[in-house]
Amino acid sequence: MDLKSGLPFWPIKNGLIRSYPALHEHILCDVAVIGGGITGALVADQLVQAGIDTVVLDRRDVATGSTSASTALLQYEVDTPLFELIEMAGREHAVRSYLLCLEAILKLEKLIGELGDDCGFQSKKSLYLASRERDVPDLKREYEARREAGIRLDLLGASDIAARFSFRYPAALLSHTAGQVDAYRLTHALFRRAASHGLRVFDRTAVTSHDHTRDGVTLTTERACTVRAKRVVLAGGYEAQQYLKHKVVNFKSSYALITEPVDAFPGWGEDQCLLWETARPYLYARTTSDGRMLAGGEDDLFDNELRRDRMVEKKSRRVEKRIRELFPELRFETAYAWAGTFGETKDGLAYIGQHPDFPNGYFALGYGGNGITYSLIAAEIIRDAITGVDNPDTEIFRFDR
Ligand SMILES: Cc1cc2nc3c(=O)[nH]c(=O)nc-3n(C[C@H](O)[C@H](O)[C@H](O)COP(=O)(O)OP(=O)(O)OC[C@H]3O[C@@H](n4cnc5c(N)ncnc54)[C@H](O)[C@@H]3O)c2cc1C
Repeated sequence: MDLKSGLPFWPIKNGLIRSYPALHEHILCDVAVIGGGITGALVADQLVQAGIDTVVLDRRDVATGSTSASTALLQYEVDTPLFELIEMAGREHAVRSYLLCLEAILKLEKLIGELGDDCGFQSKKSLYLASRERDVPDLKREYEARREAGIRLDLLGASDIAARFSFRYPAALLSHTAGQVDAYRLTHALFRRAASHGLRVFDRTAVTSHDHTRDGVTLTTERACTVRAKRVVLAGGYEAQQYLKHKVVNFKSSYALITEPVDAFPGWGEDQCLLWETARPYLYARTTSDGRMLAGGEDDLFDNELRRDRMVEKKSRRVEKRIRELFPELRFETAYAWAGTFGETKDGLAYIGQHPDFPNGYFALGYGGNGITYSLIAAEIIRDAITGVDNPDTEIFRFDR
């Protein structure tokens, strides 16, 4: 599966921060993690902190799958609005999933504070715009649902928006908890820390088969080496769908661009909140810690790599046009444009935990627009499962929900 097209910015900006050896021998470990993206890094970090002998295997260089293409807005909002998720998943699970994502942003901030690299993290507010007048009633329902859940946010009317920003929209929700990060750098920083505490990482090592038994799991790699583990964590991102008989994710193509650093962000308010909207597909935008503007959207419902490659230029022009409409005084020049596979689930919730077809296997599939917050939630749930700690949140993300 080719996960991206064009030139994702983060590996270009940071370069190959560190490479790890490929696996050339048979090894034993307690837990093997397949996948060295942000999910695998967070899982491995949690496991190593818990004193578990852990190995990570990635067919690419670590962090160069979807993680390298991520625009990495950190939001607590699941792709499904809370008031709708309550109808789909029940109030308890819906509210808890929103609160877990909110806590995940705060936990990521704390975690990054321990890494000795800010990883481009910035704490932000997030503005969710009603794209059309007819979206306002649902936006108000959403406001009430979130307030009832104890989430701090403001409902802005047209005049509030016009007073703070250069664009006009009928209403918006301003959330006080959000953030932004360089997910590529964060993944590398997590691996650096975990490796210094005993994690073994092998990149450019594809796992070609797994044999799950009640006693453990044997993985075989492309070089015919085996990894014998008591348990395995499948953190293979969108490529992990191939292991499952049932489809749990719909693939799309999503487009993004980043500008050269700009002098100022006129019309974007005091602290340049994250922006997105009710329309589907939605436009989203944020700034970066080095003064750039990052925007994306224009999703296509197909995931054909060749078609996607051809669309990058055209889609980036459309995103640019929308940004110029929002911020007529913003002077910017696009530096890089790219696209990536993007996956959504039926209810916007991740799939995390055990699957009956995979004894001793734990999936960490953080699909959806807030995939990175799900990665952290997955890391905690899986750590608890492996260390024998009861975690009631496991129920929310199970496969047979
Ligand atoms: C354009 C775009 C914008 C996005 N924007 C956001 C956003 O704003 N906020 C947000 O939270 N999320 C966003 N996402 C989603 C987010 O990037 C993903 O949820 C996240 O990066 C997934 O991380 P991962 O580690 O699960 O997957 P990946 O980064 O893809 O890592 C999985 C790794 O597993 C490896 N692997 C797979 N199979 C095997 C195998 N058999 N053997 C060995 N290795 C294997 C792959 O090589 C890969 O490196 C965006 C995604 C895209 C593409």
